[in-house]
Amino acid sequence: MDNMDPIPITLYNTLSRSKERFEPLTPGKVGMYTCGPTVYNFAHIGNLRTFLFEDLLARTLRLNGYEVTHVMNITDVGHQTSDGDAGEDKMAIAAKREQLDPYAIARKYEGFFVNDMQRLGNDIPTVLPRATEHVGEMIALNQTLEAKGFTYATPEGLYFDTSRDPDYGKLAHLRLDEQKQGVRDDLNIDPDKRHPADFVLWFLNKPNHIMKWESPWGVGYPGWHIECSAMAMKYLGETFDIHCGGMDHIPVHNTNEIAQSECATGHPFVHYWMHAAFLNVRGKMSKSKGNFVTVQTLIDSGYDPLAYRYLCLQAHYRSELEMAWVWENDDPTTGRGRAESLDNAGRGLTYLYERLARTTEEPLSSETAFDSAYREVLASLNDDLNVPRAVATLHTYESPRLWNAFDPVLGLDLARRAKLPEDEAPPAPVFALVEERQAARKNRDFARSDELRAAIAALGWEVADTPQGPTVKRHPVGRL
Ligand SMILES: [Zn+2]
Repeated sequence: MDNMDPIPITLYNTLSRSKERFEPLTPGKVGMYTCGPTVYNFAHIGNLRTFLFEDLLARTLRLNGYEVTHVMNITDVGHQTSDGDAGEDKMAIAAKREQLDPYAIARKYEGFFVNDMQRLGNDIPTVLPRATEHVGEMIALNQTLEAKGFTYATPEGLYFDTSRDPDYGKLAHLRLDEQKQGVRDDLNIDPDKRHPADFVLWFLNKPNHIMKWESPWGVGYPGWHIECSAMAMKYLGETFDIHCGGMDHIPVHNTNEIAQSECATGHPFVHYWMHAAFLNVRGKMSKSKGNFVTVQTLIDSGYDPLAYRYLCLQAHYRSELEMAWVWENDDPTTGRGRAESLDNAGRGLTYLYERLARTTEEPLSSETAFDSAYREVLASLNDDLNVPRAVATLHTYESPRLWNAFDPVLGLDLARRAKLPEDEAPPAPVFALVEERQAARKNRDFARSDELRAAIAALGWEVADTPQGPTVKRHPVGRL
């Protein structure tokens, strides 16, 4: 396959509303920014569908030979309950709910998020910058905007003045004179805000807000939108290749990112904007009680998180995915439930593992046949990430070698699940780490013990403590 002509990659660009040939700014390299989680609660599996799409995109680009720098922000301050800046900071709400310091909330749910990503088989992005650690960059960007005349201040905050940006709304094809956002939320609307579309760059005079910093405008905290622009530009430069998010980010958050970034630098912010459609979970939801469907809910309900991954692979990222979720005894507080689509995906995945493990004769035995089938699957992936078609083609060939060749994109853990026996003994380096962890535990050095557990997990093994001592087995799910 070394002499294959490359298959061009096309991506659907929300900016142009069309599929475009992908050409990176720097040959061989891709800079990619994806709006990350607000770490105030567990991630809902719907949010995780977007992160899964972004993971498939990064992996497809890597399979094509690109060196991908994937940046995903961790929002640990400044995200109000409404994307249009109204309401309360989600971190402050969670801090009240759990009687914890907002930083403790942020670190706690960031840890759960990383764990959920791993359990779903997602690669951890190259950089996971925290908003609270980049406030200096956000202030500097706001100062640039202020110096160029794109801002105004009120007692409540520093605003971006959308009337000064003739391109405002180009991503969402919005017209400023039709913009109503911020008005429909009658919570905490600033009477001095000049236009409903204007948005906060820096919040001021929020006496009950615990997370606050000095700034040229006074003590306060950054707006959510400026966070993404400042961190994206810090790690990827003022113009970079791909920016992803959920479709709900198009009209406000990503629109505002473009406005402030391009007004500050005077050149394009991003070449390709890509957005994932929703997962619609139908069923009794009760987010207020915390009873919404998370990766842990799936596990508690007896599902393999990779069954959810497999389900997502069967729908194109721009198509909505429906899931009818039924809580056990019709009661969300049980934390357990079922969905028929997940049952089917789980059975399909188990059957796939069994089939591949049982196949003794490789159907694509000639190199020519393999190369042609490989190109067929890759062409689907490169066609705006048509993963469902790629998976359908893989099913047609039934070739373990072909499935294995694409598992670096699919992330179904095929090498381990379909090939390796489960009672495999861990290699010596893993044993050494397990012993070191035992010593740390004996010394009650639990921080070190946790680090070593993570190091063991990074090698693909899971250590469990039993009264008889530690046991170690292959990590049950996900690539690590
Ligand atoms: Zn963002």
